[in-house]
Amino acid sequence: MNVFPIYFSAPYISRSEKQNLIDVVDSGFIHGDGTFTQSASSKLESLTSSNKVLLTTSGTSALEMAVRLLDISSGDEVIVPSFTFSSGAASIVAAGGVPVFVDIEGDTGNIDPELVEAAITPKTKAISVMHYGGAPVDMDAIMAISRKHNIPVIEDNAHGLAVKSRYGALGTIGSVAIQSFHDTKNIHCGEGGAILINDPSLIEKAEIMREKGTNRSKFLRGQVDKYTWVEWGSSYLPSELNAAVLDSQLDDFELIQEKRFSIWGRYKKELNEWAVNHDVKLMSPPFGEHAAHVFFMLMPSLEIRDSLLQHLREKQVIATFHYVPLHSSPAGKKYGRTHGSMEKTDSFSNRLVRLPLWAGMTEEQIDFVISTVKTFN
Ligand SMILES: *Cc1c(COP(=O)(O)O)cnc(C)c1O
Repeated sequence: MNVFPIYFSAPYISRSEKQNLIDVVDSGFIHGDGTFTQSASSKLESLTSSNKVLLTTSGTSALEMAVRLLDISSGDEVIVPSFTFSSGAASIVAAGGVPVFVDIEGDTGNIDPELVEAAITPKTKAISVMHYGGAPVDMDAIMAISRKHNIPVIEDNAHGLAVKSRYGALGTIGSVAIQSFHDTKNIHCGEGGAILINDPSLIEKAEIMREKGTNRSKFLRGQVDKYTWVEWGSSYLPSELNAAVLDSQLDDFELIQEKRFSIWGRYKKELNEWAVNHDVKLMSPPFGEHAAHVFFMLMPSLEIRDSLLQHLREKQVIATFHYVPLHSSPAGKKYGRTHGSMEKTDSFSNRLVRLPLWAGMTEEQIDFVISTVKTFN
């Protein structure tokens, strides 16, 4: 691969990926829920400490399942951060629900638990949190609110695979959680995802929902002698081709994380002095817990942020900002409701820069990113 341009992200290719794909093709078993799906699911169960993992076709479809599993329907409200991926809100709207946007904490980008309680109404049916960069949301505070008001929690853990936080393993604290295996995530299968079911009473319903609303999973286990349409559902299961790629990526997970953490650590250490001198805040996850999914910096203003991006681009370093706040997006305004000030969300989004971070980066590329940032005045 050429040194330049230094991409923001590039998909990792795992060691046994091609062989696994050949094995699937040769086996003639291409549709879902075969041996690679089983293998990848159980690897994910041990990696996340979850009792039940079901592979899905994307993180988005896992979010749609999560919302439906919690019985969100017409007019129900779900509290979500405005600073998140669009699917976090679109999945609620797909079930007829209303996303209620609240502000974030100004340093982590995570939902502010203090604002969550104030946004609760009699219509609130769930709280959806997203662990930005795999740095944990304050789940002690969120779960206390959840218990007090008897409202279930969804964890969007697309960034935080396998993070063991002081609040517990991310993805196992709320009733349900989701992972994404889009090829911009730490491990991937092109497009894919998973739902983690932590509330045991939802497992059977989730299996039915994922299999087009049928009890086919029970049938395949020999628990019923024919299968039929029993509930609302859709097609949320990926083919063995995707599962085969994911399975091989899981074998390389430690290798990938080691590399990502090493890049993250170099940025954090080698940019510190420049950051102090330029009034820039480098990502500082509380208690040092994160997934090395992103390395972000908060610049003093939108103008300075944009000129840093421009400076890097001129040197062929592709850095980028992140989410455009959902509360001010066209669909967010049409379908959602905003609770309170969004000042921190707007400021965080306007000042954010993410640096290139992917397992295949060479030391030469990392050196170049660091030295190029440092020449920005
Ligand atoms: C990537 C991502 C998703 C969606 O995942 P897809 O697999 O692309 O559908 C959802 N939430 C967050 C926070 C993400 O980063």
